[in-house]
Amino acid sequence: MKIIIAGGGIGGLTAALLLRKAGFEVKVFESVKEVKPLGVGINLLPHSVTVLNELGLVPKLAQIAVSSKALLYYNKFGQKYWEEPRGLYAGYKVPQFSIHRGKFQQLLFEEAKAVIGKENIFTNHHLQSFKEEDDKIIAGFIDHSFNEFIHEETGDALIGADGIHSVVRKYFYPNEGEPKFTGITLWRAVTETTPNFLNSSMVMIGNTMQKFVAYPIREDATSSTINWIAEIKNENNTTPPKRDWNKKVNKEVFLPAFRSWKFDWLDIPALIEAAGDVFEFPMIDRDPLPRWTFGRITLLGDAAHPMYPIGSNGASQAILDAKALTENLIANNDIQKALVEYERIRLEPTSKIVLSNRENGPDKIMEIMEQRAPNGFENLDDVISKEELQEVANQYKKIAGFEKKV
Ligand SMILES: Cc1cc2nc3c(=O)[nH]c(=O)nc-3n(C[C@H](O)[C@H](O)[C@H](O)COP(=O)(O)OP(=O)(O)OC[C@H]3O[C@@H](n4cnc5c(N)ncnc54)[C@H](O)[C@@H]3O)c2cc1C
Repeated sequence: MKIIIAGGGIGGLTAALLLRKAGFEVKVFESVKEVKPLGVGINLLPHSVTVLNELGLVPKLAQIAVSSKALLYYNKFGQKYWEEPRGLYAGYKVPQFSIHRGKFQQLLFEEAKAVIGKENIFTNHHLQSFKEEDDKIIAGFIDHSFNEFIHEETGDALIGADGIHSVVRKYFYPNEGEPKFTGITLWRAVTETTPNFLNSSMVMIGNTMQKFVAYPIREDATSSTINWIAEIKNENNTTPPKRDWNKKVNKEVFLPAFRSWKFDWLDIPALIEAAGDVFEFPMIDRDPLPRWTFGRITLLGDAAHPMYPIGSNGASQAILDAKALTENLIANNDIQKALVEYERIRLEPTSKIVLSNRENGPDKIMEIMEQRAPNGFENLDDVISKEELQEVANQYKKIAGFEKKV
């Protein structure tokens, strides 16, 4: 059985590796000419790391990522109200990794070249068209920069792992339009700083109108690389800036709003000032779909369920899709039934995450704290109980599927 995968991102490459391991013939077609280490930090939750562990990737990941120790929440005055262990430190069998998204994609890309063979991975091949004919899929690819047809591939199934602007999704949902924007803009960058800067942990500071998130994505004995995200909501802003992972902006666009966020344990303006390039992009997603599978064609990852980057789920859910897709293709000789079953298993849980993230996912605790203690607190117990804090954290873990210590 030959599977055509459109998109050599995190979901597409993981699917390719898992499918190959299961004995399927796989060909991956990636739009960009060269896979460069684009993006900044992402997190891989333990359930997705379990899948990467099956591919033997955990030792390699451990060399380039940080095994996250804890998640901590603070109000805008830098007062801590919640801390929970993560990954190995919370009793999971595998770590939660914080990692540079581009380095992770490159690791998968190199692994895919070694396992699947360079001859089966095509860069500069942008899926443009496809059709189902006589129990086969025929996919047409162009060189995107010149808009020139370059290749046609025939296979038994087509997986649209082609990201938030998916061509495959657009074909089945031509009237969907642009992604949805809430007025929240994110500024992301990395800052090189001293070793053990945040004690291998992720910190969330502020509220849903203005937030700062930071975590290390690389550490050694002499330095650490901190990934950070500054986030501001402007409800009057209805026109999103174009989602371009390389749109650099001047720090002065958002730095003034964070000038007073200087705490004894973290100087946010200094962290921002010491950063290299800052990238701006809008917080966008799309509505959950009623269907992903159409005959021998299905969607995976951001193409199927683009979600707000809240709760560290984008990459993890794409990896879980890849796992479910492979398991169903192994279990079912009838491709179309396998793809329908894959959709049955993955569509509902991922739709719930998309919707939960619109309500701020686990970060809704930030809003609760802001409403109850806008001027900070002296005694946390007067504001919120430990049980309530735990309940919010547990609820989201359940929705995102990592409540069990896998
Ligand atoms: C350049 C880039 C940088 C990113 N940086 C971050 C980040 O810093 N933090 C974060 O949380 N998330 C980031 N993301 C998103 C994150 O990778 C995804 O949310 C998540 O990993 C799900 O992965 P995916 O494989 O479904 O989608 P993606 O990782 O978006 O991968 C989709 C792939 O499909 C390719 N593609 C698109 N159209 C076609 C086509 N027609 N034919 C063939 N190939 C096509 C794209 O070039 C891309 O490689 C980034 C995505 C990209 C593309």
